[in-house]
Amino acid sequence: MALLDMKQIVKIYVTGGEEQVVLDHVDFTVEEGEFVAILGPSGSGKSTMMNIIGCLDVPTSGEYYLNGRKIADLEEKELAHIRNKEIGFIFQSFQLLKRNTVLENVMLPLMYAGLPRHEQERRAKEILTRMGLKDKFDFFPHQLSGGQQQRVAISRAVVTQPSILLADEPTGALDQRTGAEVMELFNELNQEGRTIIMITHDEKIAAHAKRIVKILDGKMSKGVVSDA
Ligand code: ADP
Ligand code: MG
Repeated sequence: MALLDMKQIVKIYVTGGEEQVVLDHVDFTVEEGEFVAILGPSGSGKSTMMNIIGCLDVPTSGEYYLNGRKIADLEEKELAHIRNKEIGFIFQSFQLLKRNTVLENVMLPLMYAGLPRHEQERRAKEILTRMGLKDKFDFFPHQLSGGQQQRVAISRAVVTQPSILLADEPTGALDQRTGAEVMELFNELNQEGRTIIMITHDEKIAAHAKRIVKILDGKMSKGVVSDA
């Protein structure tokens, strides 16, 4: 059974009476342990796809199964649980809480998951240390470089041990060298068995994934295996 299985996904936006078909019968399957890039130009529907994969939005039609569960059948409470526990989100703009420290930002999803405070702290410190941020626990996001902020965001995304890491343009706000470092981290996490779905408009960034699928005019190409 695939970890993620999407069948004939359609997404239509209606604005001012105009219909726009953004996803046009997309089939997409991801097996556990894969590192897949979804590559497409601006406006091709990548974020729309990410929102559906991440259970932040629902398709107009089509079926989506995550870990064998049909997403359309789930209650909001179960969806919230999936978003917190099963999917680790990484965004272009990091989306860290500005008034909270690095450590607090990474502890937060564990707090929502109901872990005791000492356990939240232990796990958050462990992952931050691995990400090379041992001396930044008490810093605030604005006191860090972009690359460091993204490493905090990656720590926050993986600390709950999610089934899928879902990244939307994770290097979009970073310079080339820092972006390459983030891709190295993704490769390490993937080698440890983590499933990664990364969305990007940048072919060079996509080449770090093991499989690339292209999205254009609402259609998705079959994956090509990258030689990365
Ligand atoms: P990408 O992330 O590839 O740049 P998006 O998924 O953000 O593309 O957008 C794809 C298309 O869908 C764009 O034409 C955009 O204007 C449209 N779109 C995205 N979100 C909405 C929305 N909430 N309402 C109406 N149109 C939308
Ligand atoms: Mg986008």
